[in-house]
Amino acid sequence: MLRACSIASGSKGNCMYIGSQQANIIVDAGVNLLLIEKSLKLFGTNASKLDGVLISHVHSDHTCGVAALCKKYSVPVFCHQAIADFMSKHSDGQIVEFFDDSFYLKDLTITPFKVEHDVHCVGFAVISNTKQVSIATDMGQATQGAIDAMQGSDLCFVESNHDVQLVQQGSYPEFLKKRILSKKGHLSNNACGDLIQSLVNFGTKNFVLSHLSESNNYPELAFSSVVNKLQEKGIKEGQDVHLEVAMQNRLSSLYQL
Ligand SMILES: [Zn+2]
Ligand SMILES: [Zn+2]
Repeated sequence: MLRACSIASGSKGNCMYIGSQQANIIVDAGVNLLLIEKSLKLFGTNASKLDGVLISHVHSDHTCGVAALCKKYSVPVFCHQAIADFMSKHSDGQIVEFFDDSFYLKDLTITPFKVEHDVHCVGFAVISNTKQVSIATDMGQATQGAIDAMQGSDLCFVESNHDVQLVQQGSYPEFLKKRILSKKGHLSNNACGDLIQSLVNFGTKNFVLSHLSESNNYPELAFSSVVNKLQEKGIKEGQDVHLEVAMQNRLSSLYQL
């Protein structure tokens, strides 16, 4: 049994919950502690029962709440060896380093995989028994390695950050536009649609479009862009796949796999 829910998702802060029979974890803590506490209660658990917080990368929209969480609840911080120094300086918590290989946390098998971003960044494939949930955001492109790691998941949280035209026509300075659109920036709605197409071929039916940009995207646009991309390949939303858009200020559905 696996449960998963996006607590917050977007350029202003990211956090998601994953629970199994034995374990409760969150992936990233880029939100305030109160929101984490309140959300965990809704899931029938609480922050003192957290077995760990997994960190994808150092950007503050993924890490700004880590220090408060560690201080109050002594939650271990699981992070890649490449960012362990940074995380130990930015939280008082116990740092558990992982490398490129799978590791175990109670009944969870967690496989980090590299995603292309402008700092060291990983996605996670989390398995309990036969169920798998994967999360990959903050990636300029969906590499074959990321697709391989996520394939066969029961549920995927994938980045649908921006609409390319909105970025190009928007008011951001040129350097920022270049960064967002680069291969080490963020995944566009259309690229997200392509990624989902690939994953549907391996049997995944549930997708949560995640990490939407506040300035260069909106939920209806992300949703319709991906739906249109899928339709090109004859994949129908509501029939072959189920899509949900994760929001900045609202919990997603609580998935029970
Ligand atoms: Zn981010
Ligand atoms: Zn980032």
